[in-house]
Amino acid sequence: MPTVLGLEGSANKVGAGIVRDGAVLSNRRATYVTPPGHGFAPGPTGRHHRERLLGLVEAALREARVGPEGIDGVAFTKGPGMGAPLAVVATVARTLAQLWGVPLLAVNHCLGHIEMGRLLGAAPAPTVLYVSGGNTQVISFSRRRYRILGETLDVAVGNCIDRLARLLQIPNDPSPGYNVEQLAKRGRRLLSLPYVVKGLDVSFSGLLSHLQSVTPKLLESGEATPEDLCFSLQETVFAMLTEVTERALALTRARHLLLVGGVACNRRLQEMLQTMCRARGAELCPTDDRYCIDNGAMIAQAGWEMLRVGQVTELSQSGITQRYRTDEVEVTWRD
Ligand code: MG
Repeated sequence: MPTVLGLEGSANKVGAGIVRDGAVLSNRRATYVTPPGHGFAPGPTGRHHRERLLGLVEAALREARVGPEGIDGVAFTKGPGMGAPLAVVATVARTLAQLWGVPLLAVNHCLGHIEMGRLLGAAPAPTVLYVSGGNTQVISFSRRRYRILGETLDVAVGNCIDRLARLLQIPNDPSPGYNVEQLAKRGRRLLSLPYVVKGLDVSFSGLLSHLQSVTPKLLESGEATPEDLCFSLQETVFAMLTEVTERALALTRARHLLLVGGVACNRRLQEMLQTMCRARGAELCPTDDRYCIDNGAMIAQAGWEMLRVGQVTELSQSGITQRYRTDEVEVTWRD
């Protein structure tokens, strides 16, 4: 029964999780939270992860009731993500793998989300919508790769939401997206915002610069409240995502839509996708907060699949990379 420790830290979450043959034995996480109005820079985020990761590994082992001798592989996020945080996690992974004499498994972060979603959702061959602070992709598996059917042409949807939160000085605790979602529930006025869909791709940068230029004026004149802005942003960007996802489902004829990534926690997005899926006779498979937000268990699960087929990583190949596309990985563990 292979047991894999997975380490994640590509953005502001750092986590350690342990998976054994489809069972999540533990999943510990810490989040680097910055003051309202501020994002998270690579240097301080990396320092946060450095301070927290070993404690999380110890806690994950304890909770799983597994000693180092019970670990068969150490998986870590190779990329994509922010350089300094990724480097901290990779250093710990290399050290533990050598110390314990077990294989290293370098995981593509996006594949971690997908493999965890496949495990939880009981949907073996879903079309995937991956939406987070760093990624926005519509994905489908074909000929041994997770193919990107559509994606953002510029910033990720979560980044767009986070930037509005920063503009409005909305707290980052527990996350800016969660707080935007709560405010959006009280929005009364739907503002007309740039809506940019090109085939299966979306673009948010024009919308973002529009918001940056009109927000101070709208708030000052009382034409819109922060609640209206949050509501209008969510309705607009989620409609764009629902449109391209529907187009992808029409193309793939998949019966399941797997929703992963930090923005996947948003109930309004789930509701819009649910309505679309029902109309098409497809089933929405959302992931809950423990797993849609970046975590160690999802990296362990992808690593477990890689270990199962012998797709292990040599020490000399264990470097990190900030850019690492979903379709670069040959998926030898799926038919
Ligand atoms: Mg992610």
